[in-house]
Amino acid sequence: MPRPISATISVPSLIHNLKTVTAQMGRPAVPAGSVTPRVWAVIKARGYGHGIEPAVRAFNRADGLAMLDLEEAVQCRQLGWTGPILLLEGFFEPRDLAVLDEYRLTTTIHTAEQLDMLNAARLSKPIDAFIKLDSGMSRLGFSPARFRDAYARAMGFVDRGLLASVGKMTHFARADDDAQVTRQQLDVFRQATQGLPGAVSVCNSAATLTPGLWAGVGGDDGQWVRPGICLYGASPFADRSAAQLGLRPAMTLASRLISVRTVAAGAGVGYGHVFIASKNTRIGIVACGYADGYPRHAVTGTPVTVDGVRTRLLGRVSMDMLAVDLDPVLHAQVGAPVVLWGEGGPSIDEVATAAGTIGYELMCAVAPRVPKVILEEKQT
Ligand SMILES: *Cc1c(COP(=O)(O)O)cnc(C)c1O
Repeated sequence: MPRPISATISVPSLIHNLKTVTAQMGRPAVPAGSVTPRVWAVIKARGYGHGIEPAVRAFNRADGLAMLDLEEAVQCRQLGWTGPILLLEGFFEPRDLAVLDEYRLTTTIHTAEQLDMLNAARLSKPIDAFIKLDSGMSRLGFSPARFRDAYARAMGFVDRGLLASVGKMTHFARADDDAQVTRQQLDVFRQATQGLPGAVSVCNSAATLTPGLWAGVGGDDGQWVRPGICLYGASPFADRSAAQLGLRPAMTLASRLISVRTVAAGAGVGYGHVFIASKNTRIGIVACGYADGYPRHAVTGTPVTVDGVRTRLLGRVSMDMLAVDLDPVLHAQVGAPVVLWGEGGPSIDEVATAAGTIGYELMCAVAPRVPKVILEEKQT
């Protein structure tokens, strides 16, 4: 029998989340006459750990796919995706441009070195590009002072048949927690791009789900939003759960009890004896540890579900195992199902919070040794 751990990826939940996010964009504070943005479904990091294949299948109703890895982009084409693909970091060296050309990939251009590489390139057909502005994230993009020059160089490439279209993009640093910083970034973006034609792309999940935000972005030549995390059923906000946003967990990490025992009052559990039983305590050992991607920093009390009953992690997470409190579920025996996060268990965000991290990191970190089970869309 294989070790009982698995990560179940629900294609129906991915589909549901894309629909939910798209529907919410049409809600309050959207002025009449605004054109709903098109959606790049962000599937970087192998679909936030869910796998490229299920992501491409689930998001086939999105307008485009966005990622960073060229191999993943090529895989999307091989899987039959014919729509736009945006490379969020663009290309890295001159020979990448042949891949962009062959597979018709849209590039981000965020640095002068990329403009130089493009300047020296030979393409069979012009490609599409978004010029990225650093509006306050201080990560990628041209400064507001340099943006117009970069844009003008890119427009020159249109005349030379290297680029087909030139759009404008930026990225928010605090769309999840500080509306004022986001407004400032948006002002910087508007000023730097004023009067320059082309499609616009600024919104990540948090901004996409902030009512009215995308409508204030403008983008007369069309706007693209770039939601990622919300499509996988985790919340981009610290103060609103995925369930409150109408999202469903797309990944369920589940395992089973492989041992149960009663430890006496005063006994320590696991490495470092970080948990010491204050009374005789029935505990279960779960086949899941940090080598599976469960966070080692999760503390005693981190929620976990055993046989459908919510209980808590006890002590330090080992490489291959962790201990749980069976006090609320005394009947649980070896073989009892355990949900670490996802459908029928705690949300990935709850576990992440207990481990001092975010859902993003946990979903990307599920180890290759954990078998993935793909739940397909029901045929109707
Ligand atoms: C990852 C990423 C996104 C998606 O962010 P989420 O917070 O997951 O919605 C959007 N744009 C860029 C440039 C990104 O790198």
